[in-house]
Amino acid sequence: MSRRNLTILGATGTIGVNTLDVVARHPDKFRVVALSGQNQIEKLAIQCRQFQPRYAVVLEADKAATLQTLLRGTSTEVLVGMEALEFVSALPEVDSVMAAIVGAAGLRPALAAARAGKQVLLANKETLVMAGRFFMEAVREHGATLLPIDSEHNAIFQCMPREGSGESRVESRKVLDSPRSTLDSRLPIGVRRILLTASGGPFRTRPVETLKDVTPEEAVAHPNWVMGKKISVDSASMMNKGLEVIEARWLFDARPEQIEVVIHPQSIVHSMVEYLDGSVLAQLSNPDMRTPIAHSLAYPERVEAGVNWLDLAKIGQLTFEAPDFARFPCLKLAYQALAAGGAATAILNAANEVAVAAFLDRRIPYLGIAASLESVLGRLAGLPANSLEDLMAADAAARREAELLVAHAAQK
Ligand code: NAD
Ligand code: MG
Repeated sequence: MSRRNLTILGATGTIGVNTLDVVARHPDKFRVVALSGQNQIEKLAIQCRQFQPRYAVVLEADKAATLQTLLRGTSTEVLVGMEALEFVSALPEVDSVMAAIVGAAGLRPALAAARAGKQVLLANKETLVMAGRFFMEAVREHGATLLPIDSEHNAIFQCMPREGSGESRVESRKVLDSPRSTLDSRLPIGVRRILLTASGGPFRTRPVETLKDVTPEEAVAHPNWVMGKKISVDSASMMNKGLEVIEARWLFDARPEQIEVVIHPQSIVHSMVEYLDGSVLAQLSNPDMRTPIAHSLAYPERVEAGVNWLDLAKIGQLTFEAPDFARFPCLKLAYQALAAGGAATAILNAANEVAVAAFLDRRIPYLGIAASLESVLGRLAGLPANSLEDLMAADAAARREAELLVAHAAQK
């Protein structure tokens, strides 16, 4: 494998840090060209000193000034703003872009990487939830290679037949002539459905009547994974799984009813693919994001990731159960938004970002998250989704609507 040049967007986050951990194990295989971060400027400066990227990108001028001071004497150039994120995602010298910014902010740079025909390592699931059709079209049109970082989708990718595994360069069958509807989609020949596993999060067995008292601390305490706060709350509500159903729909061209969620509390089986002959292929590993990250960084080769080897005898049992929609209404809302099509999933995603932030700030209760999503979806259903601009507008409208609901709840 020739040495790969990387841009890592969201380097200071959980995925970014895990990516740099794998990169540091293989200095002969990977070189960091650009890193980005939003708030933890000192951490970003330490990363820059270690990996010596050509560029470091932050979003605000005052942070750029701080970073510049911290990086005095190094050759790293500090850039500012969304355009700079797009610039480092499309640099000619960059081979792969790790898209690991959290939330809707990750869309534009991920799209820039796709349009530049890069190998896109997509952690930012919000990109597909907001604008799946447009993003996948950009990937195909510009010959980009898309590799999923989300552990479930990475598992599905590994279990799919190579042809339909979401990698556009080797895909010939799925070239789009014209945009198709949400429901007009095809899994690879021979594949019957996707079994998307979910841990069930911290509230899988908590009495439903006590969910009204859930605190942010309880919601972010995930039993198996260490993750950023937003995705941790999403895991507790199973909105994360809902977003992942939508993500799988676009990555693998599956219809909603071809994606089944199965609760698997041990988080060892990361997802499965069922074939027409009754075979089910699964990918197993310890729950450590360095496995899917290393898989995508080195693809199609394999490199060590620093992950503990799986000891199945020690784990003993792998169990599975069906999800309970009454306990996890956000999961149901995600399926509904996917079925509604259009801008609904972008609306769901934006309203969820606002609601989760409000919950973490203790401005709304835990059950207020699902309630506000339902209300925003109900009010804004039917907004157009004919262009990326339409989707951005739907995103903005959903944020405004969700903020109003939060403000209203806070007054009570
Ligand atoms: P995180 O909160 O730990 O890190 C987010 C990163 O994005 C940070 O570097 C932060 O500085 C940057 N960032 C935040 N807001 C930004 C903005 N407005 N503009 C530019 N940069 C911004 O999040 P994470 O857990 O690393 O997750 C990153 C993405 O990966 C998310 O989309 C998440 O859904 C996805 N993901 C994460 C995991 C996981 O295990 N952590 C698993 C699967 C998918
Ligand atoms: Mg996941």
